[in-house]
Amino acid sequence: MWFDFDPSFGVESLRDPLHFPRLASVHFLCPHCEARVAREAGEPARVCDHCEKATMVTAQPDGAIIDRCAACGHDELYFQKDFNRTTGIALVVLGSIFVPWTYGLSLLGVTILDYIVWRMVKDVIVCYDCQAVHRGYPANPRLQPFDLATHDRHVYGAAPPGAEEKH
Ligand SMILES: [Zn+2]
Ligand SMILES: [Zn+2]
Repeated sequence: MWFDFDPSFGVESLRDPLHFPRLASVHFLCPHCEARVAREAGEPARVCDHCEKATMVTAQPDGAIIDRCAACGHDELYFQKDFNRTTGIALVVLGSIFVPWTYGLSLLGVTILDYIVWRMVKDVIVCYDCQAVHRGYPANPRLQPFDLATHDRHVYGAAPPGAEEKH
């Protein structure tokens, strides 16, 4: 029930928006309206924030090893850096603009910055099937990084004709 929701959970993640919320959470697309919605660990299932239709999705408890998607129950997942690629590209573009004035030092600067950000960010666990993102959970050693073949299998179906031979 949504009215059982403890508002302090939201306060926790809003307190310091520059840092990652302490609580584990799952971000997924509502099966009814496809809006991106989030549930934090310990939060009970409630209706979609946007279309207000019922969703049964709850985030796994804090510290749980994720081996199944919280949103759809699928068991093929991958991990990736919780890093916005657009931010990285924007940094490099910005660095390139200042190259003529800094003799390339700006590019070196953003490369280092990019590396630092890359090292700082944690992994998120993503569902191949519904793209739900599980954030703030410990790494599951059984999971592999993103694999294009597995991804294609989910997007194009179980047996894409000739896909195995051609690629
Ligand atoms: Zn919805
Ligand atoms: Zn899923």
